[in-house]
Amino acid sequence: MTQIIDGKQISKELKDELKEKVTAYRAQGIEITLAVIQVGNDKASSVYVGNKKKACEYIGIHSLSYELEEHTTEDELLDLIRRLNGDDKVNGILVQLPLPKHINEDKVIETIDAKKDVDGFHPMSVGALSIGKKGFISCTPYGIIELLKRSGTDIEGKECVVIGRSNIVGKPMSMLLLRENATVTVAHSHTKNLKEVAKRADILIVAVGKPLFINHEYVKEGAIVIDVGIHRDENNKLCGDVDYEDVFPHVSAITPVPGGVGPMTIAMLMKNCVNAVEIQK
Ligand code: NAP
Repeated sequence: MTQIIDGKQISKELKDELKEKVTAYRAQGIEITLAVIQVGNDKASSVYVGNKKKACEYIGIHSLSYELEEHTTEDELLDLIRRLNGDDKVNGILVQLPLPKHINEDKVIETIDAKKDVDGFHPMSVGALSIGKKGFISCTPYGIIELLKRSGTDIEGKECVVIGRSNIVGKPMSMLLLRENATVTVAHSHTKNLKEVAKRADILIVAVGKPLFINHEYVKEGAIVIDVGIHRDENNKLCGDVDYEDVFPHVSAITPVPGGVGPMTIAMLMKNCVNAVEIQK
């Protein structure tokens, strides 16, 4: 029978564990603070920021909110980040992406102190991950490892195929799977014979950014499929990069959309905020 990997339930368990940890820190006089910066009022970004603030509230993390005008200059944003870098009370800094076109995202990411980089996007965080050092890990792939482990999947020695090589999902995902001793293949838009490559996977991670792109022809019988994609279909219903109905009868486990990878991303952001206390020691 196919197991549905319940990201909603697993993220709830994780948030409850974090809440206990935060309470224990409080008892030692340690308060965790996350600064959240949004530039402009993109609707989707406002929803993400709102959900992050709600998660902070649930866990007991203090959140500081900076809602900047769309026309904020790059220098003004960088000045705010530098101020927050220097504020000992702030443990984590998050700048909601995407930013307006006149602001250089790389520059913004690189200005955040690597010790406060709770999104795990700073080159120092990425470098630390690739050489197995302590540091912040990009929340979505970090959440996928948690999903696999907590749903009873042994990653060690497995053939894993990651479709997609973005800096925030595909690349850190492959590093994390390597760290778990999997054999990892990363596929991308130049990969030849994608169906054959994907069919090698015991664990197939799909972060291709194309709705319903993966059907059963890409999937080995009994594989585990993790769908990172989020889209709206023609009926405004959420769907993933994987054609869930088509793939479902062929796999041993699969994440749904919604309710799979999505809820884990915010839970792992909260975990990074809690980890910040250790990283900053
Ligand atoms: P992205 O930056 O657009 O990257 C897509 C990747 O897929 C690229 O590496 C691209 O290859 C590859 N690709 C595109 N077409 C392909 C094809 N025909 N065959 C093989 N590979 C192909 O996307 P992303 O930021 O990684 O996000 C992927 C999906 O996950 C999106 O739907 C996004 O909305 C979703 N997402 C969800 C969460 C969450 O919390 N659930 C978080 C982040 C992202 P090239 O590098 O060669 O161009």
